[in-house]
Amino acid sequence: MARLVGMYPAYPPPSARAVELEGLMRRFLAEHVLPAEAAYDAYRAAAGPDDHTLPPVVDELKKSARELGLWNLFLPSESRLTQLEYAPLAELTGWSLHLAPEATNCAAPDTGNMELLHLVGTAEQKERWLEPLLDGTIRSGFAMTEPAVASSDATNIETRIERDGDDYVINGRKWFTSGASDPRCAVFVVMGKTDPGAAVHRQQSMVIVPRDTPGVTVGRNVPVFGQWDQHGHTVTDFVDVRVPVANLLGEEGGGFAAAQARLGPGRIHHVMRALGAGERALAMTVSRVQERVAFGKPLADQGAVRERIAESRIALDQARALCHHAAYVVDSEGNKAARHLVAEAKVAVPRAVLEVIDRAIQVHGGLGVTNDVPLAMLWGWHRAMRLFDGPDEVHLATLARAELTRAPQFEV
Ligand SMILES: Cc1cc2nc3c(=O)[nH]c(=O)nc-3n(C[C@H](O)[C@H](O)[C@H](O)COP(=O)(O)OP(=O)(O)OC[C@H]3O[C@@H](n4cnc5c(N)ncnc54)[C@H](O)[C@@H]3O)c2cc1C
Repeated sequence: MARLVGMYPAYPPPSARAVELEGLMRRFLAEHVLPAEAAYDAYRAAAGPDDHTLPPVVDELKKSARELGLWNLFLPSESRLTQLEYAPLAELTGWSLHLAPEATNCAAPDTGNMELLHLVGTAEQKERWLEPLLDGTIRSGFAMTEPAVASSDATNIETRIERDGDDYVINGRKWFTSGASDPRCAVFVVMGKTDPGAAVHRQQSMVIVPRDTPGVTVGRNVPVFGQWDQHGHTVTDFVDVRVPVANLLGEEGGGFAAAQARLGPGRIHHVMRALGAGERALAMTVSRVQERVAFGKPLADQGAVRERIAESRIALDQARALCHHAAYVVDSEGNKAARHLVAEAKVAVPRAVLEVIDRAIQVHGGLGVTNDVPLAMLWGWHRAMRLFDGPDEVHLATLARAELTRAPQFEV
């Protein structure tokens, strides 16, 4: 059992390579990424919400990141990093959520899809899809959630994937297909029912659907708290979409298990990046309160403000400890053993980061809720994080079940 009660884990020290990469990532952030944000924002503002082209500055950053060796760090087989070693690097990318994860080819949903292809893809699937994804030349989408059913319970998914000779025929409506609006999005991993009569966790399968397959329609893009992401979150229709059976990902009926395998690392990576966003919000708080004067003194001299700063530091350090512990157990005992710790982190970290961002908004006054500073965007994204990759309640239900069935340490 992954849970350590009483004893503390002895984390292995980071390798020399991990330390070097951390220094490089810091430099990359300071010298390349943060200075590029203004150009990214200006491009997006001028292009408008319906435009999904990539601001050119992102390709420049991808080139620089690759030259520095900051590329595909999320995947241990590529990066030779443990999850614990990756955690501080991912955290740094969280300082600039629109730019740094993609610049380093560590952005969702591609990372989850790459994990899946790496884990269960055939040699042909890897060559056709994993290689260009690892190369950063295409992007991808993951189409599981459906507007018509409560998709936090993945057994509800209704999309049909029916065998017809050497093909599968797919029919269903998805939404929140992140990344689908991006012109570079070339492929979807689609989850649906291959056998509605099978045992409940064996009904679903995943298939690879090239975006240009007839019958695929990428429709309405939905904003997240009023923010229109460059890569989009779309309603995506699949009508009589035909793909060869060779496009099955993993085994037929294995979709539910594959979704868990995909979401496990994805969750902890979101959590790692969230810590960076929280650090940014705290840094902005500290800077603002020292320069802003109200009632005759800087805000930093007000006891209430100082208390908020301290609360934010505690919240972030607690959250990081939980995240690193989960990452350590992923490394030392595997995804399955770490699943409860990952669930704890997936609930606790976005909540902590939201509190920190909320305090940052408060000390910024009206400015805090505008788009002149990134706080409103960060708040919206992390509020959404309490829903995607499993709403809080689903993780809490899992944790409660584990707690209620655990043998007590002592008779009480
Ligand atoms: C920004 C963003 C990006 C996303 N990207 C993707 C993507 O790329 N691909 C994809 O397939 N999906 C994606 N999603 C969808 C996301 O995974 C779903 O929204 C999420 O799984 C919840 O499903 P639902 O919206 O159908 O909510 P529902 O299943 O309808 O659940 C609604 C609410 O019910 C409550 N609830 C559920 N279960 C329980 C329980 N056991 N106990 C108590 N309360 C409960 C929770 O509060 C939950 O939020 C994204 C969502 C967002 C917001």
